[in-house]
Amino acid sequence: MPVPLVDRGGVDPRDYILDIHGLASADESSGDSPGSGAPNARPWIAIHFKCCHAYARLYRNRDGTAYAGQCPKCGAPARAAIGEGGTDARFFTAE
Ligand SMILES: [Zn+2]
Repeated sequence: MPVPLVDRGGVDPRDYILDIHGLASADESSGDSPGSGAPNARPWIAIHFKCCHAYARLYRNRDGTAYAGQCPKCGAPARAAIGEGGTDARFFTAE
């Protein structure tokens, strides 16, 4: 006996949940550590700009090759490459 579509509301909720999980699993960490958080949030790392003693976030670029941003006070650029040699550091300092 076929299941009436109305019982599923036309959308299978399991598929929806799986899609969200796929987006969130790019970063395996959980909790409140940098780089995680809301499923739709872009990964980021914290950085300390020594030039102005200011803290900021570097957001991952579209290619996923680096984190990039700039000093919130003087605009000095900062960049951290992803995956070159590997570092687990989640906090960086810009000289
Ligand atoms: Zn600065």
